[in-house]
Formats: sequence, C-alpha cells, structure tokens
Amino acid sequence: MGSIRSRLTAAYTAALIATMLFFALTLLTVRRVTVFRELETRVAEEVDRTVRLIDIASKLFTQQLVVTPDSLVGAEVSPRVVPLLELIPDFVLLKDTRGYSLYRSEQVRLLSDSEREMLDSIVLAMPSSPTPTIVSLPSGDLLMQSRRLPGIGTRGQIDRVWVGIRTDAAQLAPSELVNTMLIVAPFLVALSVVFAYFIAGRAFRPIDRIIDQVEAITDGRSLHRRLAIGAAGDELARLSSTLNAMIERLETSFGALRRFTADASHELKTPLTVMRADVERAMSPTSTGTEQAVALEEALQQLTRMADLVDSLLTLARADEGRFDLHREPVELAPLAREVVETARLLGEDAGLIIDAPMIEEADVSGDLTRLRQLFLNLVTNAIKYTPRGGRVEITVVRSDKQVSVTVKDTGIGIAAADLPYIFERFWRADRVRSRASERGGFGLGLAICQWIAQAHGGTLSVQSRLGRGSTFTVTLPVAGTSDLTETDEFIVPQGVAVLD
Ligand code: ADP
Repeated sequence: MGSIRSRLTAAYTAALIATMLFFALTLLTVRRVTVFRELETRVAEEVDRTVRLIDIASKLFTQQLVVTPDSLVGAEVSPRVVPLLELIPDFVLLKDTRGYSLYRSEQVRLLSDSEREMLDSIVLAMPSSPTPTIVSLPSGDLLMQSRRLPGIGTRGQIDRVWVGIRTDAAQLAPSELVNTMLIVAPFLVALSVVFAYFIAGRAFRPIDRIIDQVEAITDGRSLHRRLAIGAAGDELARLSSTLNAMIERLETSFGALRRFTADASHELKTPLTVMRADVERAMSPTSTGTEQAVALEEALQQLTRMADLVDSLLTLARADEGRFDLHREPVELAPLAREVVETARLLGEDAGLIIDAPMIEEADVSGDLTRLRQLFLNLVTNAIKYTPRGGRVEITVVRSDKQVSVTVKDTGIGIAAADLPYIFERFWRADRVRSRASERGGFGLGLAICQWIAQAHGGTLSVQSRLGRGSTFTVTLPVAGTSDLTETDEFIVPQGVAVLD
C-alpha cells in the first residue's frame, strides 16, 4: 500500500463503506419508524372498529350481549355476536369488569395454552392502555391497545376491548432491506474500488510524467532541459513552471560554481607554476648565489599573492555561510576617510595621480572598522590602479538625514556599459586590463568583497562609469542609530554576493 494511488483508493473505499453503512442505518431506522407508525394507526383503527361492532350488536340485539350458558365455563359473549366479532382478523380480547375474558378471537385461540395465559395475565396486570403498547410473547411481539366501553358495560358487562397486531410485519420490511443491501453492497464496493483505482491512476499520470522528466533532468548534465507545461493552467502546470524556475536557478548556480572553481583553480595554478620554476631555478647546481636569491624572492612574491587569494576566498566563503565575525562598534567615518586619503596619497604619488578630498563630512556609523577600512581601501586602490598617470582621484564623504555616502571618483579608463552588470561577480575582470591587473595582483574578487561588506552593514555599493572617462563608486551606509540592525544583530550575508545564486 505504498503509492498515493493505492492510499487514495483505500481512503475512498473506506469513505464509501462508511457512507453506505450510515445511509443503510438511516434508511432502516426511518423505515422501521414508518412501519411502526402504520401499525399503531392500524391497531387504533381496529380498536375503533371493534367498539363500533359491539355498539351495533348492542343495538341489534335487545337481549344481553353476554350470556352464561354454563356455570362452569362462566360468562361469555352471546354466540349471535361472535360472527360479527370474527370479522376482525387480529388479536381481540373482551374483558368484563373483573378482568375475565368474555371473548377471544381466533388469533388468540390459536396461541398455545401457555402463551394465552401469559397474554391474559399481562392484560390483567395492565388494566388499561389507551395508547399502543408492545407486549412480548415467546412467539413474537404484539402491539396492543385497549378501550373502555362506556355505557355498553351495563348492558353486556363488556368492560374493556383489547386489540393486538403482530409486529413481525414491521420488522419484516427492514430485514428485507438489510438482505438486499448485504447482497448489493459488496458489488457496489468492488465496482467503486476499480473505478477509484482507475481514476486515481489517470489523475496521477501527469505527475508520473513530471517525475520521469525531473529524474531525466537531475542527473546533473541535463540542467538546460525544462519540463513540458500542460496547456491547462491547473496545479500541475503551476508545479511544472515552479520546478522549471528552480531548475533554472540550479543551472545558474551550477554554472557559477563551475566558473568559480575553474577561476579559483586557474588563479592558484599560475603562481604555483611560477613558484615551481623559481624553486627549480634556485635549486639548479649551475645557478649562482645572486640568481638563487632573485628566484627565491620571486617565489616569495608568488606565495604572498597566493596567500592574498586564499584570504579573499576565505572571506567570501565565510560570507556565503551566512555569518561573519564582524565586530560592530561606533565608527567615525571622517577620520577613517582621512586615513584612507593619506594612504591613497602615498600610492597616488608613485602612480603620478592627484588625490583630492574636497568634502569630508562628520558621520557616525555602526560597523566593523577593519572591514570598512578594507572596503574604502579596495575602492581607492582600484581607482589608482585603473587611472593612468596624470589622472585624478576624488574621495568625498557626504552625510544626509539618515545615510552617509562615501564616493570614490576617478578619471581613469572606465568600464564599458556592457561590462557594468558583471563587475561585482567573482573573478570578473575586464579582458582588456586582465593582464595588467594580474601584474598588479588583482584577482577580480575585490569588488565582490566590497559589495558584501556594504550590504552586511545594511548599505549598498553602486557604480557609474563611462569607458575612457572614469568611474564613480558610491558606498551608502545608514547613519548610526537609524539602521534597523541592533548591536547584537548577526550580520546576514545579503543575496547577490553568494556564488550559489
Ligand atoms: P581586481 O582585483 O581585478 O581589481 P575587482 O573586483 O576589484 O578586482 O575589480 C573587478 C574589475 O572591475 C577590475 O578587474 C576592473 O576591470 C574593473 N574595475 C574595478 N574598479 C575599476 C575602476 N575604478 N575603473 C575601471 N575599472 C575598474
């Protein structure tokens, strides 16, 4: 009973049986009540008819209705009245004031002696029953009703009339119903099970198809394929399009992961190859002491480069995990910006650039000083790196009501409009400058880390750039006390930084 189809069929069958049982019981109860009511009406009518007969007889025959032919037998209804009373087909008893039977109908006479006595004693113990009452005899139940005969009793000493009807008739109809149901129900249930199984099968066929398609796609190599979406806009069509959207995201994530792994391996391979050559050169028996020193120094440079790369990868990996050990504290941005400007001036001097800070406004933010410094230094070093000699780099800090904007503007090579959407992606570097960037140690991870730091502080990092005209990177951070984050909040890595999305 594993499949949903079997479970549905079983549930449907159980529900059907329960419904049928409930229906049958209701029908039986209603039927029984109706038949019983009919019997009650009939017994009341028979009582009326008997009373009327006695009344007619008392008027027809002026003589006594009750005679005593034999002192041993006692009083009984006159033989002239008996044929009239015999017209009533049911159990009829006429009693005198002392409870003796003056007349017993044929039905009563046909009872066994013991049953007759039992009926007499029950009737005696129950002097009157104006409404129908059940009287139980071994041969079956009787529905009995009695009536007193006012005014007649004096003439004929008939004090009370009892009429009874067997209730078997009331029970007979329901039992027929039960038998019919017992025969028909198994057929009905069997037929319904077959139907339910068939319908459930049909209903699940599209799901089976979806499962087959998903199985074919999720082998890892077929993520480019999509599920066929049914024509009707039903739940299954929605399921298919939801799954398609999920597969599309998976495809993007897998692609990004593959690119990331390939890029990371490539970035690590280059310094490793150089290092290997350097070490081999240093170990060569023919190399002089100076050559050895040069080779080892180059190997050390490559080692430092690799350590930087691993450090950046580690930062992003931790960011991807969703948490990072950022130490939040109140940070004054103006002194931090001035410190960054100083460093930029030192670097810019070598590169032949003018570094300017026309406006540095006071603003406090709540954040990690080290990470914020890393963010601004990354942007400033990029600006210096991608601005040719004689250019200009401008750093400003402008505070507005609730936020502060730190802008790093350069007059450098700029970024092509087509490249702008990709610059925050990991390992992305504009191809034209790829070789140059590599020389200067860029891996294409700096902006991804910058964006993560900005977003982890509840801020944003945006860029405006024109090829050949320069770029402007703007970091917007919430001013301390206006951010939704509190001192104890974890820094959640925002969407868009993670590789897998
Ligand atoms: P990298 O370490 O290579 O500089 P980044 O992530 O910091 O990596 O930058 C990614 C790429 O974005 C760079 O390779 C460069 O092509 C481009 N870029 C970044 N900053 C600037 C800038 N100020 N001017 C022009 N291009 C830039």
